[in-house]
Amino acid sequence: MRIDLHTHSATSDGTDTPTGLVLAAVAAGLDVIALTDHDTFDGIPEAQEAGRRAGLEVLGGIELSCEHDGRPVHLIGYGCDPSASPLLDELVRLRAGRAGRLQAMVDRLAALGLRLTVDEVLAKAGVSPSVGRPHVADVLVDKGYVADRAEAFRDYLADGRPGFVPRYSTPLGRGIDLLHRAHGVAVIAHPWGRGNREVMTAPYLESLVRSHGLEGIEVDHQDHDPETRSLLFAMGGRLGLIRTGSSDYHGRGKTDHDLGCNLTRPSAYRDIVRRIGERGGELPR
Ligand code: AMP
Ligand code: FE
Ligand code: FE
Ligand code: ZN
Repeated sequence: MRIDLHTHSATSDGTDTPTGLVLAAVAAGLDVIALTDHDTFDGIPEAQEAGRRAGLEVLGGIELSCEHDGRPVHLIGYGCDPSASPLLDELVRLRAGRAGRLQAMVDRLAALGLRLTVDEVLAKAGVSPSVGRPHVADVLVDKGYVADRAEAFRDYLADGRPGFVPRYSTPLGRGIDLLHRAHGVAVIAHPWGRGNREVMTAPYLESLVRSHGLEGIEVDHQDHDPETRSLLFAMGGRLGLIRTGSSDYHGRGKTDHDLGCNLTRPSAYRDIVRRIGERGGELPR
């Protein structure tokens, strides 16, 4: 069983349609994927329908934009009921914050001599209700200002760079509670990626387990080097956490994140599905 529990479609900042993602997953020899778009469930029905036709199991997921101590933390919810209203209300707020910062980003980039408009960014986001920096990056690429998304983030869009504008994110503990109220299972994505190791300490993670019932952490991810993976695997075991692995595939939007480059063990996947079933969430299809 080859299981990849963190992927993106063009319904957020990936480049494949949900159907295209499923076909690419089959071609990569996967048996199960989770679609975990940023702050939206919109791609899941299409992905599950394509999965049914192509013989691929698709678990519905979401990657919720959270924060702790002023740092962005990505929280994955598996098997959430997409109609649970407190979570839906929070998604509306997150997506409004995403769209609401675009004009400020465009203005900052204009001051640097990079000319683009909010409408061009929204057109680039297309069907995605979750517009983000990757779509800004894609416009900069189209206009020849940068070669690719990675260069756009490095020179302009990453936190601390001149085009960066912060946006609203959900406090992490509240994010876990919202996923649970939607009958989902909460797993922190790439917890020690991108400078987050200092804030995501073992005592803090333990407090999330005790006070919020955090269920898992992503261990095998491209943002974690081999030593980080072994430390996280051991710590997750001590805390009784489910330990997952994934590609965090974004299609052409991120290199070195090929489908299936990291996998989740079948025992960990069964644990997630069992918990979703016990609390009445949305089982994979
Ligand atoms: P935003 O959602 O607007 O805060 O943008 C964050 C998203 O940008 C993340 O979900 C990543 O998918 C993407 N991202 C962050 N850093 C990079 C990078 N260096 N190259 C390409 N994509 C990136
Ligand atoms: Fe992304
Ligand atoms: Fe992420
Ligand atoms: Zn992701």
